[in-house]
Amino acid sequence: ARPPNSTYISSSIAPAFHASGRRCLATQVKKPPAAQEHENKKERVVILGSGWGGYTLSRRLSPKTYAPLIISPRSYFVFTPLLTNTASGSLDFSNIVEPVRDPRAKVDFIQAAARAIDLKKKTVICEATVVKSGVTESPRTTEERRGTEEGPEATNKEPMQALLQWEQGEIFEVPYDKLVIAVGAVSRTFGTPGVRENAMFFKDIGDAKRVKRRVRECFELAVLPFTTPEMRKWLLNFAIVGAGPTGIELAASLRDFIYSDMMALYPSLDEIPKITLYDVAPKVLSMFDESLSRYAMETMEREGIDIKTSHHVKSLRWGPPGAPPPYNMDPKRCLTLTTEEDGELGVGMCVWVTGNAMPKFITESLDSIDAFPTDSVHSMEASPEAPENPENASWKFKKAPKKGPLVVDGHLRVQLQNETGQTAVLRDVFALGDNAMPETGAPPATAQATNQESKWLADRLNKGDLDRTPPFSFRDLGTMAYIGDERALMQIPHSGDRGSKSFLPEGIKGRTASIIWKMAYISMSISWRNKLRVAFRWTLNKFFDWVTT
Ligand code: FAD
Repeated sequence: ARPPNSTYISSSIAPAFHASGRRCLATQVKKPPAAQEHENKKERVVILGSGWGGYTLSRRLSPKTYAPLIISPRSYFVFTPLLTNTASGSLDFSNIVEPVRDPRAKVDFIQAAARAIDLKKKTVICEATVVKSGVTESPRTTEERRGTEEGPEATNKEPMQALLQWEQGEIFEVPYDKLVIAVGAVSRTFGTPGVRENAMFFKDIGDAKRVKRRVRECFELAVLPFTTPEMRKWLLNFAIVGAGPTGIELAASLRDFIYSDMMALYPSLDEIPKITLYDVAPKVLSMFDESLSRYAMETMEREGIDIKTSHHVKSLRWGPPGAPPPYNMDPKRCLTLTTEEDGELGVGMCVWVTGNAMPKFITESLDSIDAFPTDSVHSMEASPEAPENPENASWKFKKAPKKGPLVVDGHLRVQLQNETGQTAVLRDVFALGDNAMPETGAPPATAQATNQESKWLADRLNKGDLDRTPPFSFRDLGTMAYIGDERALMQIPHSGDRGSKSFLPEGIKGRTASIIWKMAYISMSISWRNKLRVAFRWTLNKFFDWVTT
């Protein structure tokens, strides 16, 4: 049973939080107003994260039964499929965000980051997240860098993020009846030297703003009268590492932005700008059929994007190729990207989009937990050699190998594992989205899958039939990618629900696919306000070139 809301004592802060080295004084432990307002009759569903998982779930839960509370460092939801369009200026940043606080939605919000979970007390230990400058920009990039597999805190070493350092916020606990973990993923850097410090990542609005700003900055630097022709070439060489859907769409959008809009403003730089896409794999967009992936490569190369598949990036540092150390960051200069195949190359910007890693909250904070009460367990695997009593065993959250996502059962319930490998499924703690991996039939880490999971879980909780219903199963509705110059790809799922071959073609490509791509994202945008804004803005772009810059 959950202790009364009034129990807030620092001594019971979860052990993982103590292990992090942060001191948690009794005076720091506060009860936030949103938690005080908890209506006793309704179950408090605490949702960690305001992305595809958290935001969608909070909006679908029945306000008659549940009192949802989102805890997230960012106070808005981002429609990520259109993020690349904002970096290239074809959409405004406000066109793709939805505020979490909305008077029409009966959802509470606390701007904070979850730092640990106390299963015994059924509370989440949070840290209020406030940016020093007072800007409520997401700390995602900083978090991301801290959360990469290299591990160490990196705040002061991040030149590009200098203005984005978080204060150490106040620590407080928030009680829950049900908890949903949807904190998403961070960028994977594979420990490549210099990437964490010098590359740009691409997960959030702040990242898109930085990319757009840097492109413009590189053009202005390139036209300065004293910039040498060689430096000009390097500054206008834009590298994107990772040729998955995000890398491809970013390269395509930047291509539109640079070749159509920027070149009109900087005619003297004609033929100098270059976009290069790197990937270790021999082909791009591996999730698409061979013919679509080949079409994407051919089209993008024709559009002027240099695609370097089977290329291994070794390091990234500030300063031009051949420059001696020290490599101090100087935004007026270029960076040097070194690949195994081509050696050193000067670039004005490098955006790193090579896939997902788990944030520190998942990899470290959930590693050691207090004993937890037996009644919080939904089911426990019988094991002759393992202790059955959760009070006596040392348990951890079960994760996929190599610091992977949380393993959940078919009903998205989080699992624990003890030293002997015995598993226990928690009754009231769920995980979904990029930070979760269902034991059976893991869906891809996409907005489409996360959206389906959150709708499914909300419906089950609303109907109260979670235990009686079949496990969640992902339904592939197809995949789309924009490849530039008003062309796109659309992969149609190969077979229908009944396993029969679909009557539809396997894929659509070119301008038709681009029209479908646009219509699909207008209709999927969350609010009517943003559906109309996106449609209006794209129409406006057709008539006025200047709106995109
Ligand atoms: P997110 O949406 O990333 O949300 C995570 C949330 O958790 C954020 O609000 C974050 O601030 C918060 N958070 C982080 N740490 C904490 C903490 N400690 N405590 C509390 N909250 C925390 N998928 C598609 O299907 N189609 C696409 O076209 C597509 N395009 C994409 C384009 C880009 C540029 C990107 C980055 C992703 C794209 N995806 C796409 C993938 C899709 O966005 C993700 O799969 C989806 O966002 C996962 O949802 P999520 O809720 O798990 O995580």
